[in-house]
Amino acid sequence: MKRLLVTLLFATSVFAQEREMERINWMDFRDQVPSKIRTVLLPTGTLEPHGVANNGADITAPVAMAKTLAPRLNAMIAPVVPYGITGSMEAYPGAFTIPEAAYRPYMKAVIEGLAKNGFKNIIILNGHGGPQTAVLNAVASEVSAEKHVRTLVINWWSFASDVTKEVFGEDGGHAGWNETAFVQAVDKSLVHAEKYSDKLATAYPAPNTWSASPFPSSIGLYQPGQGYPKFDQKKADEYYTKVVAKVGGLIEDVIRKWDEAGV
Ligand SMILES: [Zn+2]
Repeated sequence: MKRLLVTLLFATSVFAQEREMERINWMDFRDQVPSKIRTVLLPTGTLEPHGVANNGADITAPVAMAKTLAPRLNAMIAPVVPYGITGSMEAYPGAFTIPEAAYRPYMKAVIEGLAKNGFKNIIILNGHGGPQTAVLNAVASEVSAEKHVRTLVINWWSFASDVTKEVFGEDGGHAGWNETAFVQAVDKSLVHAEKYSDKLATAYPAPNTWSASPFPSSIGLYQPGQGYPKFDQKKADEYYTKVVAKVGGLIEDVIRKWDEAGV
């Protein structure tokens, strides 16, 4: 029995499908795309402060999600685009921002490259919002029209805001309980609860009330009094599982409808 188990473990490790584009050679790629694999997941993020989580939380989250979802979706994973348009937290230590004038054509070329390589379904798992989302939506729809491919851009934290309320019983925030929990589920060594205090958080202003640049906190709560990180590992794991399941369900549903529509 033990021997069988060892054999099985060995077999799965040897024959496990390689899904990361930078880890596959051109011959294996040619044999799989597009004949066996038509879908690619492209994670996009940025570097910006996230309370007591890592500056690359917006990279960590979509990369982990892609790795979890790729087998279920029979998808390849494109290398992450780690730099993005950061916005109101770009002044913080270790943060980066890329001007839109550079980000836009670069991202368009990346998505065009995935189309040129034979992928029909190009799924952008975006880890960072604001103007970056608008740019990604625009270039993805341009490439869809020009290259006859299908594109889907997902902002997981907004799409799964109902899961945030279900798991935590309240709304979240930028580097709030939800996002911090997601990172904690991926790699708890990236979250430093011992450095945390509620004073690190500020609720985002209601529209037309005030606007500060840089934003005065690296934790921005969507609702006053809700979303302070609480570092509960069980809730973090539950949140990760439910968010990823919901995102995977959306991708499957959209691809099925594309297929049915014959687009
Ligand atoms: Zn973030």
